[in-house]
Formats: sequence, C-alpha cells, structure tokens
Amino acid sequence: MAKVLLVDDSKTSRKILRTILEGAGHTIVDEASNGEEGVEKYLDLKPDVTTLDITMPVMDGIEALKQIKLLDKDAKVIMVTAASQKSKMLEAVKYGAADFIAKPFEPEQIVNIVNKLVG
Ligand SMILES: [Mg+2]
Repeated sequence: MAKVLLVDDSKTSRKILRTILEGAGHTIVDEASNGEEGVEKYLDLKPDVTTLDITMPVMDGIEALKQIKLLDKDAKVIMVTAASQKSKMLEAVKYGAADFIAKPFEPEQIVNIVNKLVG
C-alpha cells in the first residue's frame, strides 16, 4: 500500500485517480491543484508516490518535477497527462520521472505503475 499525493489542476482528474487508487488499497495523503502547492505538500507529507499533471497554472508539472527531484532525488513521480504531450513526457523522464501515463487510461494501468514503484 502506498501513500500517494495527487497534483492536478482538474478536480475531475484528481477524483478519478483517487477513486482508482483507493479502490486498489492505496491511501491518498493529499491533493494539490498546481505545481507550487504540490512541491510544498511533497515536502510536508513525503508521499511514497506523487502523480503530476503537466499543464497546470502557477507552476507546471515539469517545473514541479524538477523541484521535487532537487529536494529528494529518490522521489517517485508519475506524470499523468494528455496523449498529445508526448514530447513533454519524454522531457519529464529526462528530469527523473519514474513513469508516465496518458489520459485517457485504463484503471489497471495506473494501479500497475503505482504497485511496481512501491513493490
Ligand atoms: Mg492540467
């Protein structure tokens, strides 16, 4: 079971991820609606896994990923984003994202990634 932080500006996306991950036995420790809030909550809560949307106001997911990895090089971050942003996803992997998943995704895809990261 993993403690997961969800960072996404879409309330609907966060709700979908929460429902799927809680259904698989994981705990959502908190949610953040932009990258800046996500970095702050990462430091406060030290989740096992963080999901990061890429397109967000204030601070986007790529910048948040860079900051989180700078603060904790072992941070396990999954980028969750639109399929059209493939180049952004590859950029995220370069900056240390553990994995990435494109919306829309099947529930078992995200569950498998989280299980793999904490397994
Ligand atoms: Mg977004």
